[in-house]
Amino acid sequence: MDYIGLDIGGTSIKAGLVDPTGQILESQKAPTIIDDLNGFLSNLTELIRNFQKSFKVAAVGIGVPGLRNSKTHVVETSPNIPCLVRVNLEDLVADQVHLPVISENDANAGAYAEFVCGAGAGTRQMVYLTLGTGLGSGLILDGKLFTGASGYAGEFGHTVIDPNGRLCGCGNRGCLETIVSGTGIVRTAAEKGMQGLLTAEIVYEAAVHGDRTAQEVFKETATFLGMACANLIDLLNLEMIVIGGGVMAAGEMLLEPARDAAARHAFRSSFRDCRIVQSKLWPDAGVIGAAMLARDL
Ligand SMILES: [Zn+2]
Repeated sequence: MDYIGLDIGGTSIKAGLVDPTGQILESQKAPTIIDDLNGFLSNLTELIRNFQKSFKVAAVGIGVPGLRNSKTHVVETSPNIPCLVRVNLEDLVADQVHLPVISENDANAGAYAEFVCGAGAGTRQMVYLTLGTGLGSGLILDGKLFTGASGYAGEFGHTVIDPNGRLCGCGNRGCLETIVSGTGIVRTAAEKGMQGLLTAEIVYEAAVHGDRTAQEVFKETATFLGMACANLIDLLNLEMIVIGGGVMAAGEMLLEPARDAAARHAFRSSFRDCRIVQSKLWPDAGVIGAAMLARDL
């Protein structure tokens, strides 16, 4: 029996048929309808039914970009997909496809994937960070996905580092993700005077080709990333921090200075026991993690 993992993004729903070891056997995609629940559900359940036509499916896992209440299983907050708010997606989907369904915050699902069959396999104390448009995170503590009292834990990207800082998508000011994320990189680049159409990728390419300002942008971003890692290391005495997400295409340009900053700011003994590494499963961590959560229901 295999499992279906779904990763709901702002523009598309990625779906994978995943075997019990975490290998993706087949993938599909459908557009995300963000403001009409019926349309959203119809696209999502069609993906599941397509797999059901050819495979025996045991359960479905769904990674949701938002806060899911672990007691009621209702999605409480989902800034990018408003039609999901106050919806019990698990019940709605289960009714239609007649399979067990579990949902989880998408970064938590990614963390679970890296823990079960990715870079963090074999660890028991691990944090997963995903640097994309925003900064997502998930915690594995004592060998389990830690979701807190109500299921909302792991919103490290929205910890405040500057009360007078940049406005964040969450409505607050100065969240870590306003600096350490793809949008953070673009904002830093613009503040430093880079002009024209800017994306994290464009800034990265400029840095690779010797643009001093772009290099400074990455150094500054990496320094904040490293300080954030030091905070996690000192707080949780981790074995590993796994970093994924589209921005990590920059690889060592971010990781090396981030490790240096983490070494400066964390207790030496705690830093020594923690490795900061790249994700192994990006860009499929969300799909695989959702499927593995369904496996371990
Ligand atoms: Zn925020």
